[in-house]
Amino acid sequence: MGYIQRRAAMLLFCMAILPGAPAAAQYFGQNKVQYRSFDFQVLKTEHFDVYFYTREQQGAELAARMAERWYSRLRQLLGHELRGRQPLILYASHVDFEQTNVINGVLSEGTGGVTESLQRRIVLPLAGPLAESDHVIGHELTHAFQFDMTSFAETQPGVAGANRLPLWFIEGMAEYLSIGARDPNTTMWLRDAVAREHLPTIKDLDKPEYFPYRWGQAFWAYVAGRFGDNVIAQLLTIAPAIGIDQAIEQVLGVNTDQLSKDWQAAILAVSAPVLTAVGRELEGTDALLVVTDWNEFRRPDFKRMRELMRTPIIFDGRNLYEHDVLREHGFRYYPIGRAPLEAR
Ligand SMILES: [Zn+2]
Repeated sequence: MGYIQRRAAMLLFCMAILPGAPAAAQYFGQNKVQYRSFDFQVLKTEHFDVYFYTREQQGAELAARMAERWYSRLRQLLGHELRGRQPLILYASHVDFEQTNVINGVLSEGTGGVTESLQRRIVLPLAGPLAESDHVIGHELTHAFQFDMTSFAETQPGVAGANRLPLWFIEGMAEYLSIGARDPNTTMWLRDAVAREHLPTIKDLDKPEYFPYRWGQAFWAYVAGRFGDNVIAQLLTIAPAIGIDQAIEQVLGVNTDQLSKDWQAAILAVSAPVLTAVGRELEGTDALLVVTDWNEFRRPDFKRMRELMRTPIIFDGRNLYEHDVLREHGFRYYPIGRAPLEAR
């Protein structure tokens, strides 16, 4: 759990930086403090210029190998070769990373890495476990591919079409390509939405309530699982010009509304058995006594429980539920140490 939460926090602001975007640094007196100067050296691999300083030499060599491995995976998967050499700038710690002058904006503690679209530079700290650095390199390198694949020789450098695509599309793709289709953290978000009967359509993904990293990953996992990984590059390269709805229709041969319905049905098919398994024993019962606070009991499907039970009474030995929610579903509720909710 700690790992999952930390990863979610780390990636929260793992942003693909847009040209001129970080407004915070533009206010007078808010430029970041650089109290150390770093004596960078360059390690050249087949595709990367890896910038590092002596203190992190070992880590840099490992990171360079991971980066090359990601490069061949992404090159094959996206059918694209990056133009020019790919800069990868490494810092030995998060504190050092926060002082980078590659990015103007202030980097928070929660930033796992950044990629700026102007010169396609990837910057990250080699802090935390190796598996996490591997994930961040894969995630950021996906951004480098996204920028390169959506910008053209004749356009101004840095004016990548990827900058016009929504966060869930861009970040979700980076998560899907660096983590894969299965992720316990994403599954948690999906199950929660199923339990609250609040599954998004594709259009809904623009709303801030749907965390773009997790829902975007879920979207790409579904689309790639159904249509194959080769549609990813096609959608990415045409969406900036014609928009996401049209790109979906053209590449996948299905309209966005239908795709939303299919996607929701697929999520339900996977999540519903887990959620309703809790309910079956309730059939025809007079009361429910809650004696455990396991996760699956924390957000049960009250609507279904109400349908199954003969009389809707809950004695809650773990104080799991909110009065408002139970009142809404017509339960009588007896928690411990809090006021009961009696029938009106
Ligand atoms: Zn990102």
